[in-house]
Amino acid sequence: MALKFNAPSDPTYRTEADIAKINEDPGFGVHFTDHMARIDWSEDEGWVDPRLIEYGPIPMDPAGAVFHYAQEAFEGLKAYHREDGSIWLFRPERNAARFFNSSKRLALPQLPVDDFVQAVRELTRLDARWVPKEGEKSLYLRPFSIATESFLGVRPSKTVAFCVIASPVGAYFSGGVKPVDIWVESHLSRVSNGGTGDAKCGGNYAASLVPEETAFAHGCNQVMFVDNAEHRWVEELGGMNFLMITKNDELVTPPLNGNILPGVTRDSLLTIAPEMGLKPVERPIDIAEVYAGMDDGTISELFACGTAAVVTPIGSLTNEQGRHDMAVPADGGRTIALRNYLLDVQYGRREDTRGWTQ
Ligand code: PMP
Repeated sequence: MALKFNAPSDPTYRTEADIAKINEDPGFGVHFTDHMARIDWSEDEGWVDPRLIEYGPIPMDPAGAVFHYAQEAFEGLKAYHREDGSIWLFRPERNAARFFNSSKRLALPQLPVDDFVQAVRELTRLDARWVPKEGEKSLYLRPFSIATESFLGVRPSKTVAFCVIASPVGAYFSGGVKPVDIWVESHLSRVSNGGTGDAKCGGNYAASLVPEETAFAHGCNQVMFVDNAEHRWVEELGGMNFLMITKNDELVTPPLNGNILPGVTRDSLLTIAPEMGLKPVERPIDIAEVYAGMDDGTISELFACGTAAVVTPIGSLTNEQGRHDMAVPADGGRTIALRNYLLDVQYGRREDTRGWTQ
């Protein structure tokens, strides 16, 4: 399907001054641009009516399926403003492919990869003046599909809306790049074997909220989940993948076993690892091994990664038994070197040898 987006006749709503003021300190996910992209789907017609429209409410019937059975999937990626004034996306086809898979798991229609990327590109182009120009700010893009049919029976919706909205963002953690403290949740799970762990769907995040509150109550910034059967094998954080660097120069992360979101940042870091003198290793990680490695020095760095926070060093892990601290190297170590490598590719300060940016 070739999608044709028709831009609204007046593509300019807020003034440059309004946008500049918002972009001084955009926060994360609180301000939204002037437009959104939308494509509708129905069982009878397939994908129809791709369009760019003014950002605003989506009128829905209270019986709309997404409100009751959480039939929805979403994505998150960014557009980066470079020094020469150009605007770039980072591996959007990876997000498109993940969205295709998430949609399948949620019994949603699968939007072709090219159409997803085109929708993201068209919205970014139309709202280009919203992409923040300074520092590590960017335009966060949030594509999503929701079940719109008004029907309370439990079966896949016969109508779906795919939308993309955009939000100028600053740093994900308000404290900037400093080590985060992690609460290791040993009772509640966000996903389970055979569940929706490798899909990006709202239900996974709803299930992570109470454990996240527990993390905050313990003075931590984020929660880490372990497997739901043995409460032992490391999975990931509420919104980021988990990696560790060992004394013998391995970059270790749990394998994609169906319970972990296949992060684009995770994949990118595993790919560039050899250039940084690190051997990428995907293997199950026992949480007991992590605590022991932190205490005896076998593990030299721990960090989390994702589109929103890029790469963030982990300074401690806490569970009900106590706290384990990780000495973070004064110069940021390889964690910050990996972070800078990615940011440099994204912002065009380093040659993109893999065709990751467009
Ligand atoms: N795990 C979870 C649960 C996430 O929500 C995210 C953010 N999408 C990630 C990992 C990291 O994925 P990515 O690098 O593609 O942003």
